[in-house]
Amino acid sequence: MLKFVNTPKIIPNKTSSDSRIKNFQEIYEIYSPENAKEQSSRCSQCGIPFCQVHCPLQNNIPDWLKLAAEDRLLEAYELSSLTNNMPEVCGRICPQDNLCEGNCVIEKSGHGTVTIGSIEKYITDTAWENGWVKPINVKNEKKYSIGIIGAGPAGLTAAEQLRKEGYQITIYDRYDRAGGLLIYGIPNFKLEKEIVNKRITRLIDSGINFQLNCEIGSSISFTDLQKKHEAILIATGVYKSKKINLNDKNFPNVISALDFLIASNKKGLNDIVNDFDSGKLNSLNKNVVVIGGGDTAMDCVRTAIRQGAKSVNCLYRRDQSNMPGSQREVLNAIEEGIIFNWLTLPTEYTGNGSVKKIEIAKMQLGSADESGRRKPEIINDSNVSIECDLIIEALGFEPENLPILFDEKKLEITSQGTIKINPKNMMTGIDGVFAAGDIVRGSSLVVWGIKDGRDVANHIQNFLEKKENFFANENVEELNNA
Ligand code: FAD
Ligand code: SF4
Ligand code: SF4
Repeated sequence: MLKFVNTPKIIPNKTSSDSRIKNFQEIYEIYSPENAKEQSSRCSQCGIPFCQVHCPLQNNIPDWLKLAAEDRLLEAYELSSLTNNMPEVCGRICPQDNLCEGNCVIEKSGHGTVTIGSIEKYITDTAWENGWVKPINVKNEKKYSIGIIGAGPAGLTAAEQLRKEGYQITIYDRYDRAGGLLIYGIPNFKLEKEIVNKRITRLIDSGINFQLNCEIGSSISFTDLQKKHEAILIATGVYKSKKINLNDKNFPNVISALDFLIASNKKGLNDIVNDFDSGKLNSLNKNVVVIGGGDTAMDCVRTAIRQGAKSVNCLYRRDQSNMPGSQREVLNAIEEGIIFNWLTLPTEYTGNGSVKKIEIAKMQLGSADESGRRKPEIINDSNVSIECDLIIEALGFEPENLPILFDEKKLEITSQGTIKINPKNMMTGIDGVFAAGDIVRGSSLVVWGIKDGRDVANHIQNFLEKKENFFANENVEELNNA
């Protein structure tokens, strides 16, 4: 260990931008065993590991790095999977530069971070390859059943944790595939579907029941669901796209980021997607403009270039250093030929029938707002226009109105529309109904979905154990009184 002084940081090979924009394959290779060992040995085994402090799962990073450096990969996998239900997913798509790696002590001292994410991915990919990742061996089947609405990271994690305790689990999802945004949001070049599907298959093999194409609120009512299960978890994510609302008209070539990404992901899965084939949700030979500067916007620009767009412009109202997503993904997009127009604000869509041009105003950063970020302000008379054939709005997501969708007025929501829970037990105002993931936090990260899934599973277990004890005591009293 402590080899960071003489061993430089090496990231796994990345496919050159020229070749990678021709397909949707993941762009990073996996480490060779030698590289993984060597890179793990760069860790200085900090007494207070800031990497761990800044990992939402508090992963025991220094210990599994040490095991990987000593080639004890089975133990490294066992340790890393104790705190993380999908380490190979997080290793690929966590914005490590803002989390573990961004806080690594040797990064701060100018030696280049330990490549924690790539090593985490290497350890778990190796575990899969060697057959170390097994279905859950339930030792003590319990009679209580839990209904989970939503098969994204939060729902899947809670299901796994509760199944380990022997509970009977059914996950309901309105999509035809499980995985939530792991399947239909995040593109293949960041996370190949096969990685997610292996996790789903393992859960099925562990006895978890999936009911797909099943929307709670229409296919089954929320009230009926409550009758079927002793506890319910709402993990439905956030799906309502925010709109920029520039003109009153609905232009057919102004589309939402998620519609665009879902169509692209479905095509990649060989589904028939009429709106893609008709060109509506397809960038081929088009001048594409993406509005927004977060991770979703980066996924859209990089998808558009892979679909064969003529040009891809990204408009963002702040500057590069203030972009909210991972800088690593911004740099990948720049390498792939995306044109970034920082400090720009779209002011008008123009065109007959469909938009042909976007008018944009130049911005400058003014004084800081309540959040501490400098507020963008328009520079007068600075308008320019960009020609475009397809506009993708990637301005973030809001929750759908669940009390209405579920026809359940007792489900309380916050001013942001997210579900209100008691932070002490993650229960909503309805007894036995819990909520977790993006539907509680607002649009967030996979790793936080996993964290919430683990936490809520503990609370559901406590709730069911109390219920079980209560009925056991009641029966004893009945027997005593008989
Ligand atoms: P989701 O993953 O959204 O899953 C919710 C599930 O609930 C869905 O499958 C949905 O179909 C289902 N559902 C909803 N309503 C109902 C209903 N009424 N009945 C039945 N089922 C229902 N995070 C990262 O960490 N790294 C990234 O690189 C990253 N990239 C992203 C890219 C995009 C384009 C997007 C949109 C998000 C990205 N995120 C990323 C964020 C991350 O995907 C989410 O934070 C995470 O998936 C949230 O997990 P969840 O389980 O709460 O919800
Ligand atoms: Fe880093 Fe994410 Fe892995 Fe935590 S889960 S160690 S933040 S990559
Ligand atoms: Fe190792 Fe960096 Fe974590 Fe310190 S902060 S324990 S050097 S990975």
